Amino acid sequence: SIPLEIFREVVEQAALAISITDAHAHILYCNPAFQRVTGYSTAEIVGRNESVLSYKVTPKLVYESLWAQILRQRAWNGLLVNRRKDGSRYLAELTITPVVGDSGKTSHYLGMHRDVTEVH
Ligand code: FAD
Repeated sequence: SIPLEIFREVVEQAALAISITDAHAHILYCNPAFQRVTGYSTAEIVGRNESVLSYKVTPKLVYESLWAQILRQRAWNGLLVNRRKDGSRYLAELTITPVVGDSGKTSHYLGMHRDVTEVH
């Protein structure tokens, strides 16, 4: 097995924007790529809900199907219209993975996204 410190360095240096939330989507951690993509520093965003990133134009049905999926402890992939701290809009290709603890309950969610505005 590899040292925990390597896990930390891998997440810190990943090119994808990574965040870890509690079971209610409140942000506990974000990596430097997340801070670059969203414009928020760790101090500004920890404790807030991921919905702070919503541009409020993605149909509600998309969020409902996202939650239906992750509440069943399945990963969700999709596109969301996101808003940076400066108000600018970008298209996020996002994967959310539930993290299931020993109890069988979802303890955290892992979010990984990238800006695909240029691609689409
Ligand atoms: P709301 O009206 O609050 O939610 C819309 C619908 O979603 C609700 O009617 C309900 O069906 C469902 N829903 C919302 N919250 C919950 C909940 N806690 N439990 C069950 N169902 C719920 N959103 C983004 O816009 N951009 C992101 O980059 C993004 N990244 C995320 C990363 C992770 C790891 C997780 C867990 C969530 C992420 N979300 C993201 C989703 C975000 O948490 C919000 O659900 C979403 O932004 C809609 O919020 P709202 O306040 O606009 O709408």
